[in-house]
Amino acid sequence: MNYNKKTVKDVDVKGKKVLLRCDFNVPQDKATGAITDDKRIRAALPTIQYLLDQGAAVIACSHLGKPEPSFDKWVKKQSEKGKDPASLTREKWEKTLEALCMEPVAKRLSELLGKNVILSGDVVGPDAQAKAAALQSGEIMLLQNTRFEKGETKNDPELAKAMAGLTGADGVYVSDAFGAVHRAHASTAGVAAYLPAVSGFLIQKELEFIGGALADPKRPLVAILGGAKVSSKIGVINNLLEIADIIIIGGGMAYTFAKAQGGTVGDSLLESDWLDYCNEMISKAQSKGVKLLLPLDTVIADKFAPDANSQVVKNGQIPDGWQGLDIGPETVKAYCEAVRDAGTVIWNGPMGVFEFDKFAVGTKAVAEALSKTSAITIIGGGDSAAAVQQLGYADQMTHISTGGGASLEFMEGKELPGVACLLDK
Ligand code: ADP
Ligand code: MG
Repeated sequence: MNYNKKTVKDVDVKGKKVLLRCDFNVPQDKATGAITDDKRIRAALPTIQYLLDQGAAVIACSHLGKPEPSFDKWVKKQSEKGKDPASLTREKWEKTLEALCMEPVAKRLSELLGKNVILSGDVVGPDAQAKAAALQSGEIMLLQNTRFEKGETKNDPELAKAMAGLTGADGVYVSDAFGAVHRAHASTAGVAAYLPAVSGFLIQKELEFIGGALADPKRPLVAILGGAKVSSKIGVINNLLEIADIIIIGGGMAYTFAKAQGGTVGDSLLESDWLDYCNEMISKAQSKGVKLLLPLDTVIADKFAPDANSQVVKNGQIPDGWQGLDIGPETVKAYCEAVRDAGTVIWNGPMGVFEFDKFAVGTKAVAEALSKTSAITIIGGGDSAAAVQQLGYADQMTHISTGGGASLEFMEGKELPGVACLLDK
């Protein structure tokens, strides 16, 4: 995939209407609908502000949550979940849609911009059309939740065309929703067939750092892979074995590796279906000359709880009734050493159950080691980003990806439809 894409700086947007796909899929309080974390809205501000300053009229859009736009399908899905069909009324369905309206986003965006944000009652309907037609340079409007349209997730060309049509004669499409680029939807990819398509600053930064690390890394490239499951990281391990100089394995998936190597893992997280795969990866690393580091020791717990009793044992020597929840001190030392002289570090997946203080030690040590290297440090993955933030090292990383699933697919070497559709430089 070509990562060298045109950006907002490569097109003239003055006096034009710009359809801007953002990632405003923010977490909300279930009861009140209040936005509990506005990080994603803040992240979109530089691109929005730039476009407004350039004299564009901005038509912003995003999805929010997972509304079901078809009443019949909603009934079917709820029935499958065991809900009483008699209780599944149209009013109830409409309430689920109401809960995912863009009002709170428009309000917060308006506060952050210090500027009125005109909210459309629909995505491509009469209200959106009228408001888009009247929109002036330097003004911003927000369309309703793109997933209220049935065609959104199907990447329906008619919907894409209608969205593009809101920009009038010489519109431009700017995508800045990195969190959604791994999905080929009407608003993330389809519209690019009808408008000149470029990236905003957020996507540009993701392409520069993650794309750069994959295509032409400053070496040695060290990949630290952890998290819960081998099965969710197979693609990443496999792809990075082609690129990295050193691969470090930690987190829950290390126990499947330990078991594959003949160790005992007690009650640790284990994916028995992936034992052969782990051995294959170990052989592949050998044949490619990639150093694959596995834990030397591990912190085990007598239950999965923050107040569990714990002790340190050698890797692959976990007694019954105990489970590994963190990498041990010897491992921490070895991993931090491997990171010290790196040119680039890509980190995906925490080293242990960092949500419990007692088992956050390994993750914290690695984060600290990254904060001290002169290497380019890139954090991908939702929980890894959260861990680095929670542990207080966010400011010291070169790049923390804004897309969980998208960054994972990026690191797997997959083509991202929302990036592929943008104009090459
Ligand atoms: P990311 O979102 O960064 O890709 P993952 O979703 O793969 O990361 O994994 C994160 C989760 O892995 C965390 O919730 C963490 O508690 C869990 N985890 C890490 N180590 C272990 C372990 N030893 N046992 C169980 N869960 C673990
Ligand atoms: Mg995760």
